This record gives sequence, C-alpha cells and structure tokens, in this order.
Amino acid sequence: MQRGSRRVEARNIYLWSISLIGAGLVVWGLIGLPAYEDPLILLLLMALGAAAQATSTAVQEGSRVEVGTAVSMAAVALYDPFAGVLVAASIAITITIISLRGRQSTARQIVERIGFNLGIATIAIFVAGLVFYGIFGLFGEETAVSVFIAWVVSALVNDQVNLWLLIGILHLQRGIKPLDVWLDHKWIIPINLLVMAFGGGMLAFATAELGFWGVIIFFLPILLSSYSIRLYVTQAQQQMDNLEELVETRTSDLAFANDELATLNDELATLNEDMSALAQEKDAFLSVLTHDMRTPLTSIKGFGEFLRNNELPRPQQVNILNTILRNQDALLELVNNILEIEKLQSGTPILLERTNIDLAELTKLVVDSIMGSAKDHGIHLECEIEVEPIIVSADKIKIQRVLQNLISNAIKYTPKHGRVWVRACIDNDSAMVRVQDNGYGIPADELPHIFDRYSRVKGHKHLAVGTGLGLAIVQSLVEAHGGKVVVTSVVDEGSTFILQLPF
Ligand code: ADP
Repeated sequence: MQRGSRRVEARNIYLWSISLIGAGLVVWGLIGLPAYEDPLILLLLMALGAAAQATSTAVQEGSRVEVGTAVSMAAVALYDPFAGVLVAASIAITITIISLRGRQSTARQIVERIGFNLGIATIAIFVAGLVFYGIFGLFGEETAVSVFIAWVVSALVNDQVNLWLLIGILHLQRGIKPLDVWLDHKWIIPINLLVMAFGGGMLAFATAELGFWGVIIFFLPILLSSYSIRLYVTQAQQQMDNLEELVETRTSDLAFANDELATLNDELATLNEDMSALAQEKDAFLSVLTHDMRTPLTSIKGFGEFLRNNELPRPQQVNILNTILRNQDALLELVNNILEIEKLQSGTPILLERTNIDLAELTKLVVDSIMGSAKDHGIHLECEIEVEPIIVSADKIKIQRVLQNLISNAIKYTPKHGRVWVRACIDNDSAMVRVQDNGYGIPADELPHIFDRYSRVKGHKHLAVGTGLGLAIVQSLVEAHGGKVVVTSVVDEGSTFILQLPF
C-alpha cells in the first residue's frame, strides 16, 4: 500500500515536472514568435505539422510512424529550437486530442495527457535543437558532412529523448522495465530517423529556397506517403480483425458442438443408468421367481405327493391340505402383486372408487385384524387415535391395503418382544397415520430404494420372507390419492413410516 502510494507520488511529480517544463518552453516560444523574420511560414508549419500528425500511424502502444516530427525538425533548422518547440506543441496537442476521441476521460486525465505529451515532445525537440546547433558550432562551418551529422544526430536525440521520457512514465505508472520497453520499440528508430532527418532536411531546404511554395511542394508528398502507410496499416488491422472474428466464430461453433456432445453424453449416461437399473430389477425379479415362488411350489408338491402315497386319518389330511392351501394363497398373492405392480406402474391412471371414509376408524379396523398375527410374532401392537373421525375422500379398499402393508411390515421387521405404535392424527392440511417400530431399521444408503419394486434391504432377506413389492404398491396407491409416504429409520433402533393423505 505504502509502496503503491509512493509510486503514485513519484509518477505525479514526474508528470507535472515534464508538463511544466514543456509549458515553459511553449510560453517562451510564443513570446518570441512575433520577432521571427517570417512568422507566417512558422504558423503554416505548425498547422501542417498538426495535419501530418492526424495521418500518423499507431503501430504499437507508444510507437508511431510520425511525419510531424520531421516538420518540427525543419522548423528548428529554419528558425531555432523554440520554433521547433512551437511546431512540436501544436503536433502534441493535436495527437492527444485525436487519441482522446471516443474515450471516457475526466478533465484531470485530459489535462494530464495533453500536458505530458506536450512536455515530452517539446523537451525532445528543444534538446535536439540544441544538439543541432551545437554540432554546427563544433564544425564551425556548414559542410555536407556537418549538415549530415547535425541532422542525423539531432534526429536520433529527438527520437530517444522522446522515447526515454515516455519510458519514465511507463516505469513509474506500471512498473514496466525500461530496457524492455526500449527493446520493444527499437525497430522503429531507423524509420523515425529517416523520416525526421531526411524528410525534415528536405523540407527545411525547400522552405529556405522557395518559401511558402517550398513547404507545399515538399510537404505534400510526405503527407501522402504517410497517409498511404496509415491506410495500409488500417487495412492490415482490419484483416486481422476479420480473421480474429472468424476464429472467434469457429471457436464458438466448436464450443456449441462440444456442448451438444456433452448433452448427448449425459443422455447416454442416463440411458446407461436406466439400463443397469432395469438389469438389476430383472435380477431381483428372477430371485423372487426362484425363491418366493419355488418355496411354496415345492411345499405344495411335497405335501401333495405325501397325501397321494399315504393313507392318513382325516384330521391329518385336513392339516396337510390347509398347509397346501396356505402355500397356494401365498403364491396367488405373489402373482397378484406382480400383476398389480405392473399395472400400477404402467402409466395408465389408477382407478379410485372414492367415498368419504373415516381414516381413524379404518386404522383401528386394520390394527384389530393384524393384532393376532402380532401376538404370534411376540410383538406388542398399540393403536392411538388422536382425533375422531378423520374424514378423507379415498378408495377404502386401497387405503386399507396400504395400512395393512405398513403395519405388517413393522411387525415383520421387528424382532420378538419388540413394539409397534400406530397413531392416527391430523397435521396441518393432511390426515396422517404414523406406523412406528423399534425393529431392525434400514441402513441410510438403502433407505432411498425401499420403494423400488423388488427391492429389499440386503440384511433383511434372511430375517423375513418378502418380495420387495409391498412398498412399491403402497407408494403407487398413495400417490394416486395425491398423498405421500415419508420414512425415517435408524439401524437397530427402528423405523417410522408416515402416511399423509390430503383432505
Ligand atoms: P417385502 O415384501 O420384502 O416386505 P416391501 O416392499 O414391503 O417388501 O418392503 C421392502 C423392504 O423394505 C423390505 O424388504 C424391508 O427390507 C424394508 N422394510 C419395509 N418396512 C420396514 C420396516 N418397518 N422396518 C425395517 N425394514 C422395512
């Protein structure tokens, strides 16, 4: 933070010093303007310098192919360093205004930019002007060699002072390494040298010889060639932009295709999941066939053969026949359940014979009908009716089946001496029957699957006979009524199934 603010301070001091020196030079030049021999030609050079700058070509940040500087060099040669300063100032102001066009800048930013650009351009040309006259002073006379050296060296000084003053601000403002910037821009030095030394020299010579017409004759071709460079660079830039646009379009096309592929992949994955779920269901179904159907069938076959091969007293025959019939009932129930779940889950709407029924009374009825079986299993079955009546519009037979299933499951999956609580009540907008047991419970990872058809908790298979169809049927029937069954369970602590039916 401190380093940052120190850097801002240094940058501001640097920027304002350059701007002030530049402004001082310009004021000095303006004071001396009327005293020049031919001030109109100087004004013309200032205007043309600015016009030339409007055609300058930005090739990279900070680097410009400029013909304007050639005009300020010519002004130095024709008059003195201050004349160069005035031309450079008019150029700097023009270029800054052009570069600010279309940008959102604050007043402070505009003043800073104009001040700084004016500063570096005027300081550079002033120093170059001093070098120019210094070299002539050194040689004592104007020879071809001294003219050549003076032009080339002062052009180089102009270019380099300009560049290094710019590097200074880039370093202070953005922390960029000075040498990196210089190396980045060095390729433009020869071009600027040529433009400044040669163009400036020619312009100065023509103006000295031909006055106003000299300016026009020699300046126009420079301006035109600079304009053609600008056109060329703009066109190249446009082509690059087009190319970039094309690449962008292609890239977005590709991204789109990729997205589609990803969607297809997702669909495939879902299909795969569906397929493996189907395969699992098929396995479960086969295990029901092999186990749950085979057991009663084997028993029927065994007892049937026993009856056929043996002369038994009548009471024993009745006993065996009862066992055969019980097994047959179990088998019939299983087949009925299989057919029913297929029908319930086939997508065709479930037909309900709705009447106004009392859920409290129905609960009591079911509990009573199961009480005997609970006792046989050594289970303590309790029933609590919180409010009475609980009238709902429902299919009595189907809801009776749901209750039977939930309560007999609670008994089936609770060990001897366990307890089952049944409670009918009203909660908010629904009629509820809660069936709670303190039995084996269901592991959390298997809980989401217990309503799937043929699905049974792995650890329960040896504890009780079952097909995994009961809860699937329960869920279909309850959902057909617009209700739901919610389950919570903890292994070895017990399970709670809550039936909710809307009024
Ligand atoms: P099943 O014929 O096997 O009883 P259900 O569809 O009725 O089939 O139940 C599916 C599975 O859910 C059962 O096999 C059992 O593992 C588990 N389950 C159902 N009710 C309970 C309960 N009250 N306590 C523990 N597990 C239960």
